[in-house]
Amino acid sequence: MAQERARANAGTLILRNEDIDSTRFKLEFVSQMIEDLRWFGFDWQEGPDCGGSFAPYNQSERFVLYRAALERLREGGFVYPCTCSRKDIRDASRAPNAGDDEEVIYPGTCRSNRQSQIVNRKFSWRFRVPDGETISFMDGNCGEQQFVAGKDFGDFVLWRGDDVPAYQLACVMDDAAMGITEVVRGADLLVSTARQILLYRALGLTPPEFFHCALVRDEKGRRLAKRHDALSLRSLREQGHTPEALRRGWLKRQIGGCH
Ligand SMILES: [Zn+2]
Repeated sequence: MAQERARANAGTLILRNEDIDSTRFKLEFVSQMIEDLRWFGFDWQEGPDCGGSFAPYNQSERFVLYRAALERLREGGFVYPCTCSRKDIRDASRAPNAGDDEEVIYPGTCRSNRQSQIVNRKFSWRFRVPDGETISFMDGNCGEQQFVAGKDFGDFVLWRGDDVPAYQLACVMDDAAMGITEVVRGADLLVSTARQILLYRALGLTPPEFFHCALVRDEKGRRLAKRHDALSLRSLREQGHTPEALRRGWLKRQIGGCH
């Protein structure tokens, strides 16, 4: 879909390697991924394999940019250090009817923390959302969207306890630095877009346009997730599928629309 949007608007398609989590990503996987994507028919004009005006295209090589952004957010008072474990957060925000799929809203336990009070403990940096504010944006595919801060999503992590930037921060900084004009991604990230709009605002940056697509599901209606190994491009290719047949099949299985 991103490729079609870029072509239709005479845009440039960029391949960005989101390898912040260096323990999970190795260089050999990157060249394999690139080969699989090219095989599938993606044709990007900028990326880790071909360079471009906004290199580097590996997020692991862009930490200086993310750290500078965190520093600005700290100076502006937008973030606070959080010492909660996952279990702390689950326990503190347990709603009687919350299902496994429902997002846990951070209860704000550490909002008044100061970094100087935290000694010899790991902590993450969390972004403080403006409780009760409605974040709206016009999505190119899904139309007008509205999410209420503190209700639909809570304070979110920008820098993890293991000293790694979170997806939200890296994504916003790269989209801004790389001059991205339209972000095309799955509808499961609509609420993340509301978070990112707050980040753009706090950093004094202009958000791009957004276009969220229906997710592709497998035969049982499960989301075709990135780490669903059995359905990776590589294994589909090895099973003898062709890119054309895969594209046709996936278009048919795009369900759920903008929800
Ligand atoms: Zn906390």
